[in-house]
Amino acid sequence: MYRQLLRQFDFKPKKRLGQHFLVDEAVLERILSAAELSPGDIVIEIGPGLGILTEALAKQGARVIGVELDVKLVALLKKRLAGFPDVKIVHADVLKAAPWQLLQDNLPACDLVRGYKVIANLPYYITSPVLSHFLEAQPRPSKMVVMVQKEVGEAIAAAPGKMRLLSVKTQFYSRPAIVSYVPAASFYPPPKVDSVVLRLDVYSQPPLVKSGVSDVAGFFDIVMHGFSAPRKQLRNSLAHSLEMPPGQVVSLLEKAGIEPKRRAETLRLEEWRELWKVFAPFLCRPEPFTSGHPERSEGSCDAQGKLREGEECSPAQGKLREGSRDSSVARLPQNDIRGE
Ligand code: SAM
Repeated sequence: MYRQLLRQFDFKPKKRLGQHFLVDEAVLERILSAAELSPGDIVIEIGPGLGILTEALAKQGARVIGVELDVKLVALLKKRLAGFPDVKIVHADVLKAAPWQLLQDNLPACDLVRGYKVIANLPYYITSPVLSHFLEAQPRPSKMVVMVQKEVGEAIAAAPGKMRLLSVKTQFYSRPAIVSYVPAASFYPPPKVDSVVLRLDVYSQPPLVKSGVSDVAGFFDIVMHGFSAPRKQLRNSLAHSLEMPPGQVVSLLEKAGIEPKRRAETLRLEEWRELWKVFAPFLCRPEPFTSGHPERSEGSCDAQGKLREGEECSPAQGKLREGSRDSSVARLPQNDIRGE
């Protein structure tokens, strides 16, 4: 079928857009089964491509919003799927389309309160930003079923001992599971890497938020410092990254109940929470914007995180770090994955 479509529409796959079309029916079935669709379910599909998965989703009764960047594929999809009134094709870069906007623009108002799922054979060059885009969104999807590069999927689903920044970030928001291993031969043209189908059951409220993490951006600041030198022991990586005296770091780690010689990759999420609790007072958090002193929000800060005008201060003393000041959510790492 894909060969016929490619010929009929005179389409040549573009490597730069990660165009590797799924041509294995058995894998398609596994994606559908992991999605656990009920008629009427709302699905955002990223990169519908030739529309083979889109059509299968629609046949299961899903209402699909397909977001495709390639204008030629948008034309193909609109023509090919014209007989499916519950499929909307949107020409956009998914990373520039807010999930709430996609839902609002393509669904009747009465459906906006329903949850939605994200299902995709992802273009691998944007795996990490896409996860971030949806897991940090409001509203978040209830479930994501995505095809990703094998190593990336394994890192996301890793257990303590093999955790990476990407694992902590994804597991903060969702419970991941690898549904299926998929060889490169299941795609046309075949990519250079193998893949996995990954299912993320997304928490409506992250368990760590329920159990006390009140500052998500601050929490991820600490996690990022912990992973700043993953091969080093935490006492060293944290002391170096936070510019704190090693003795102080050791006593804070002990206070958190964490053996200072451990490495970041071994920590459970609950241990990161304990680490955040003891290190949070040493992180700079900005004061809210003050109308009389707008420039204060751009200034530096002291050990308690209070902003001072025109001064620099180090992390241990509350140094401001890029991206840590005004984001209420943390970004998933952009460089923690290897794309194709
Ligand atoms: N879903 C199809 C399939 O399974 O055969 C195609 C999957 S292909 C791996 C990735 C698709 O994502 C391509 O159609 C590509 O054009 C599209 N794409 C790439 N970057 C995108 C972006 N930033 N926003 C939306 N779609 C994108």
